[in-house]
Amino acid sequence: MKNTELKKRNEEFVQKIKAEDPSYFDELKKGQTPEYFLLSCSDSRVSPSVITQMPLGHMFVHRNIANQVVEEDESFSASLFYAIKHLNVKKIVVKGHTGCGGVKAAWEGNEDPELQKWLGHIRRSLPEKTRETEPSLNELARINVLSQVEKLLKHPVYQQLGEGVEVSGFIFHMETGELEQIYPFAD
Ligand SMILES: [Zn+2]
Repeated sequence: MKNTELKKRNEEFVQKIKAEDPSYFDELKKGQTPEYFLLSCSDSRVSPSVITQMPLGHMFVHRNIANQVVEEDESFSASLFYAIKHLNVKKIVVKGHTGCGGVKAAWEGNEDPELQKWLGHIRRSLPEKTRETEPSLNELARINVLSQVEKLLKHPVYQQLGEGVEVSGFIFHMETGELEQIYPFAD
């Protein structure tokens, strides 16, 4: 398969950047010193660099379904370790979003055997289901972000290396495009 759309879009990207700054890629190849380590959902509508208009080199990003911090997840642990220890990031952001399909599937149930283990991680970050309360999907998305912030603060890598590294939690509202900070709570 020849993907002409990706190729074409990339060529336009290169041309646009070079027109603004001919030495851009010479600078880029020298290395990265990102300020942020960001954990985001994989959802195609919430791309962190796009919604924050962050230029290349500013955010080290890890993505998975429903932006989970899972201690046994070696991919996440390696990203977190590398970001803090070697890239020296001082800000960690957990970013969830409204209308999260991963949160919905964990809450409402899903039949795919391939997804059950991961959905179990998400499910354990959500409240117990009771008859009295039926939180909305967007409330659950907020609860999910706060749970991941909590898990991040307790993560062995953060416990070991996280001194002076600030952790915050955000919700991206895909209905409006707004990025709302929900941790630490503003008063
Ligand atoms: Zn999602």
